[in-house]
Amino acid sequence: MQSKPFHLTRWRLAGYYTGVMALILSLCGYTVYRLIVHVQWVNMEREMESVTTSLQETVEPALKQPGHLEPAISQLLPGVCLTSASCPAHSPRSENKQIRVEQKILSQIYEGNYCMRLLDQTNRPLALSQFFAKEQPPCTQEQFWQSLKDSGGDHYYKVSRILYTPERLPWGTMQVARSLDDIDLYLFSVQWILLAMVLLALVLTSIASWWLAGLAMQPVRESYQQMQQFTADAAHELRTPLASLRAIVQAALKAGELSQRETQETLQAVDRQSYRLSQLVQSLLFLCQLDQKVLPTQERPCQMNALISEIVEDFQALALAAEVKLTADLRVNDTLYVMGNEEQLYRLLSNLVINAIQYTPHNGQVTLILERTQRHALIQVRDAGIGIAPQDQAQIFKRFYRVDRERSRHKGGTGLGLAIAAAIAQSHQGRLQVQSELNRGSIFILKLPLKSVLG
Ligand code: ADP
Repeated sequence: MQSKPFHLTRWRLAGYYTGVMALILSLCGYTVYRLIVHVQWVNMEREMESVTTSLQETVEPALKQPGHLEPAISQLLPGVCLTSASCPAHSPRSENKQIRVEQKILSQIYEGNYCMRLLDQTNRPLALSQFFAKEQPPCTQEQFWQSLKDSGGDHYYKVSRILYTPERLPWGTMQVARSLDDIDLYLFSVQWILLAMVLLALVLTSIASWWLAGLAMQPVRESYQQMQQFTADAAHELRTPLASLRAIVQAALKAGELSQRETQETLQAVDRQSYRLSQLVQSLLFLCQLDQKVLPTQERPCQMNALISEIVEDFQALALAAEVKLTADLRVNDTLYVMGNEEQLYRLLSNLVINAIQYTPHNGQVTLILERTQRHALIQVRDAGIGIAPQDQAQIFKRFYRVDRERSRHKGGTGLGLAIAAAIAQSHQGRLQVQSELNRGSIFILKLPLKSVLG
């Protein structure tokens, strides 16, 4: 069942996961984009450098006098026009058959859409060379050379080089502009691809987050349900003695005057119910403290041989009253020590022994056996009682679980004895198990690590 707070928390968790992933993915996407931009830019700069150098090496030998342009220049550069005449809007490739610029550079400059001009030392344009494969930028206009964008908003990369005559006299300047159109277009598509990938990854992440949040909340939901169940069971168990108490008191009030014997009986009944109530509250408190691990540890070596003998001695009277034979069988040659809280271990074993006595018919036998393995002390509480059905064996360690509720209550049981025993065993790094056969008897086996093992 999905309760509202859990549903809300699941949404929140999934939202947080997705938010964090969105941030990480965006950062990654942005970094990848910046890397691609950087690589493109470096490549473009390299290309620009080689094109400019090649153009410079082509032009410079033909520059005899500073500021004076030889007519031979038109044989050297593709699409060159002298600005003394008005330059055509476009210089097609076919016109540039005789140019001497390296073929490789030439293909680069046609690919990259270049524009070049030569200026004398007073910055007066003398020649213009355009190599545009596609569109024609306004590179005949002075304004074009003054900014990094043309009037249409397209970007250009521009470099200037000082040119020298063969005698190493400064001739003037060469300006080269390259359209960044192709790079802008490429980066634009990279942007869209990255955005689509990030969005797709986000959708997948949000689905995975929802599923993971559900998985992560499963144990919380289970323990919440257990807590709710525990509270409901505890309330139910408390209600019974409280209702009995109330009924006893109301009956006494109704009866008016009570004889001494009736008063005595009423008080005894009240005492019984309040004892039962206090037992229940104490057990609940003890379990909660075990759960929260707030009990003082007071761990010290506990001698198991002595503890078992003590329990057998202490419960002889109860066994006698139930007409059950209670014995100890210490199958060890040495004394076994377990690190722990002796009071709690006593409580654990006494819960098992009380149950064994209670669920064993007259003339039955209950035996406490102490054995050891290499690392553990093994304590068995064996009885020849009513036994426990296989389907109940896994349940009896649960809080308030009773095979026969009425019978247990009648015997004063709270349904918490085995839950407490198992919790104590667990807090001592031990384990409590049961083997049982209906109408043949039960064996509760407690396995505790020996002191030498724990150090
Ligand atoms: P209770 O207070 O009812 O004894 P426990 O937690 O001690 O509660 O035991 C849970 C249930 O396990 C009991 O109600 C009983 O049905 C079953 N049980 C425990 N010990 C034995 C045993 N030695 N023989 C048969 N049934 C047992």
